[in-house]
Amino acid sequence: MTTAVPSPTPQLQSFIDTLPKAELHVHHVGSASARIVAELAERHPGVVPSDPAKLAEFYRFTDFDHFIALYLATVALIRTPEDIRLLTYEVATDMAAQNIRYAELTCTPHTSVRAGVPIEGYVEAIEDARVAAERDHGIVLRWIFDIPGELGENSADQTLRMALDHGPDALIGFGLGGPEVGTSRPKFKPAFDLARAAGLHSVPHAGETTGPQTIWDALESLGAERIGHGTSATQDPALLEYLAQHRIPLEVCPTSNIATRAVASYAEHPLRAMVDAGVLVTINSDDPPMFGTTLNREYGIAAALLDLDAAGVAALAGNAVGASFLPEAGKRELMAAIQARLTEHLAEHGPATPNG
Ligand SMILES: [Zn+2]
Repeated sequence: MTTAVPSPTPQLQSFIDTLPKAELHVHHVGSASARIVAELAERHPGVVPSDPAKLAEFYRFTDFDHFIALYLATVALIRTPEDIRLLTYEVATDMAAQNIRYAELTCTPHTSVRAGVPIEGYVEAIEDARVAAERDHGIVLRWIFDIPGELGENSADQTLRMALDHGPDALIGFGLGGPEVGTSRPKFKPAFDLARAAGLHSVPHAGETTGPQTIWDALESLGAERIGHGTSATQDPALLEYLAQHRIPLEVCPTSNIATRAVASYAEHPLRAMVDAGVLVTINSDDPPMFGTTLNREYGIAAALLDLDAAGVAALAGNAVGASFLPEAGKRELMAAIQARLTEHLAEHGPATPNG
C-alpha cells in the first residue's frame, strides 16, 4: 500500500483498543491470522510454510493478488471439521483480544463442503467453537451463511439448503459475496426470498466494486437490511437519502476498500460523505490479517478520517450495536458497556480534546 494511513493520537487508539465493540462484516476464513495458519500448516505440511518467521513474511500485505493467494492457501489448509473448529475458535480468540464482544461472522460453508467436509460436520465444528469461545472469552458469535456469488445460482441453492436444512440456531443472516462485476444481484432473489421467509436477515455485499445500481438491486431484489460495503453509494444522492431515511446501515471496511482498489486512497474514502449524508455507518475489518489490519486499526483510521474524539468513537461503536441483529437486551448491555468505558476514559483524561 502506498497511500498514507490516517492515524489517531496514541491516547485515542488506546481508548479504541479497550472499547467494547461489535463487528458485523468479517469473514471466517479471511480472519485466519498467521498464527492460526501456522497451526493448520503443521497439520497439513507442504501448502504454506509453518515456520513462524517465513509465514510472517508470507503474511506481509502487498496487494490484492497477494490477498487472493493467501486466501486460497488458507482454504487449501481447511480440510476437516477439526480444522474448521480450530480456525473458528482461534478467530474468536483473536477477536476477543481486541475487545470485540459480539460478532456476526460470515461463513461460506459451500467452499468447505466442496473441499469434502460434510455440512453436518461443518456446522457441528463452528457451533462447538462458538460455544467454547463464549465460555472461555465471553465473546458472542452469530453466523451469516453467504453465497459465493461468482459460482452462480447453483451455489445459491446449495447455500440456501445448508442454511435451511442444517443451519444452527445461531445462524441469523444470509449473505452474498464474491466479485460483483458480472454477478448481478437480482438473480439471487429466489434464494434470498426463501432465506428471508425462514427468518434470516438479508445482508448482501453490494456497491463495493460496482456502482450504486447494485445497491438499489440489493435493496429491491434481495430485501437488504444492511449493505456490505456500499462504497459507491455516495455517487447517487437519491440512494444516500434513501439509506439515511430508511436507516439501512452500511458495513464500511476502509482498508479492504484500499486493498481491493475499490477506493484509490484513504483520503478519497467516501466515509465522511456517508456520515455527512446522515447514513448510519458501521466500521468493520472484512478479512483483517490478509489485508494487514485489525478492527481496532480500522476504528483508528475512521476516527482520523472523521476527526472524532473519544465520544465520537463511542458513538461509532454504538452504531454497530444498533445495526446488529442482537436482541434488544443484548444491545442495551453492550451499549452500557461502551458508555461505561467512555465515562471511565473521560474521568481519566478529561473532556474531549480534538482527536483525544
Ligand atoms: Zn466482505
